[in-house]
Amino acid sequence: MALIVQKYGGTSVGDPDRIRAVADHIARTARAGNQVIVTVSAMGKTTDDLIRLANDVAHDPRGREMDMLLTAGERISIALVSMAVNDLGVPALSFTGSQAGIVTDTEHGNAKIVEIKGDRIKEALDSGNVAVVAGFQGVSTAKEIVTLGRGASDLTAVAMAARFGADACEIYTDVEGVYTADPRIVPNARKQSRITLEEMLEMAATGGRVLALRSVEYARNHGVKIHVRSSFTWAPGTWVEEENPNMEQAIISGVTHDASEAKITIEQVPDQPGVAGKVFRSLADEMVNVDMIVQNVSTAGHTDISFTIPRVDVTRSAPIMDKIVAEIDAAGYQTDDSIARVSLVGAGMKTHPGVAATMFETLANNDINIEMISTSTIRVSCVVRESDVERAVVALHDAFELGV
Ligand code: ADP
Ligand code: ASP
Ligand code: MG
Repeated sequence: MALIVQKYGGTSVGDPDRIRAVADHIARTARAGNQVIVTVSAMGKTTDDLIRLANDVAHDPRGREMDMLLTAGERISIALVSMAVNDLGVPALSFTGSQAGIVTDTEHGNAKIVEIKGDRIKEALDSGNVAVVAGFQGVSTAKEIVTLGRGASDLTAVAMAARFGADACEIYTDVEGVYTADPRIVPNARKQSRITLEEMLEMAATGGRVLALRSVEYARNHGVKIHVRSSFTWAPGTWVEEENPNMEQAIISGVTHDASEAKITIEQVPDQPGVAGKVFRSLADEMVNVDMIVQNVSTAGHTDISFTIPRVDVTRSAPIMDKIVAEIDAAGYQTDDSIARVSLVGAGMKTHPGVAATMFETLANNDINIEMISTSTIRVSCVVRESDVERAVVALHDAFELGV
């Protein structure tokens, strides 16, 4: 008997018809003789709606109460999905993250899993039930209800698959798999039949939101093979797995983009040892995640330092930046939240020089100015104007002939 984990995203359970379609697939999987653990997201845009609601009643609704609110979204889905499965004559039981024994650290809004007890899930499976687990949530070591970060129902699924040694971890979504670019922006993007975990990590980290970054990290650390596929067509999708040395590597496996960051430039920073350390230590101490960093050539003993941070942290960072500027005796700082990042990802880049050059030429030919650059062994990223980023994605996708 195989154990199969299936995760259904928000659009996949967005209305009663969708829930019945998903329940039908779950029931078929169970009737075929498999044990099934299901993880679901909140219906449609419920999480966004709840966040808006919270912001309508409070200025800074963070932490405990926010998590209490947001976990309600997934709670609705697990109950409805279980009811619909039961209705088809297949026994199913719903569980909150806490009931499933997903134990985390105490960081509200972004808690990390420390342990999965899972006794009740095991009991449910052993007694012939489908177990329907609320995605994106857990209970902290301080016994508080927490969420695991946006998009983290993917993580719940992967963590369940790891905990129970599942034979398959299927992530059902509203596209047929991982494409060479977001199919909503590049209509001729190609579905990949497989992609390496390493490539998927870089794609998820640079805006390819089809899988949440943490779920891919967890899959790599626990050896979980993921199958991303559609809950609309049920066609075979994309396998995300360890690199297979026998397979030829595509030079580029995807173009991603991300408009969730802002650029901060500190002007006229004294060019002395220790200054960069002070700047980034102060931000790290306040848990602001710095991403790309560029320091310009110094003129007359001064230099500019630019870096990117999540846009959602800009307001929170302002007092920290004021303090830093005074402390290091810089001239001031500017915040620019109209930037976006476009990235090329591909394992074959390691052995094919010239990818970065073609990328820069392509952007130049399209009159798109590059403001910052960063690279890893299998990725090149450029910061451009946000208004140019979709054009950049399409142009790069064309230039590297990734389309169908
Ligand atoms: P779910 O609610 O199922 O978790 P998400 O909205 O989180 O779904 O992720 C699926 C979406 O990811 C797709 O609708 C698509 O627009 C977007 N996406 C971005 N980049 C890619 C890509 N490279 N391949 C496939 N989908 C992508
Ligand atoms: N509902 C949560 C979110 O929107 C988790 C998820 O969908 O994976 O972020
Ligand atoms: Mg998602």
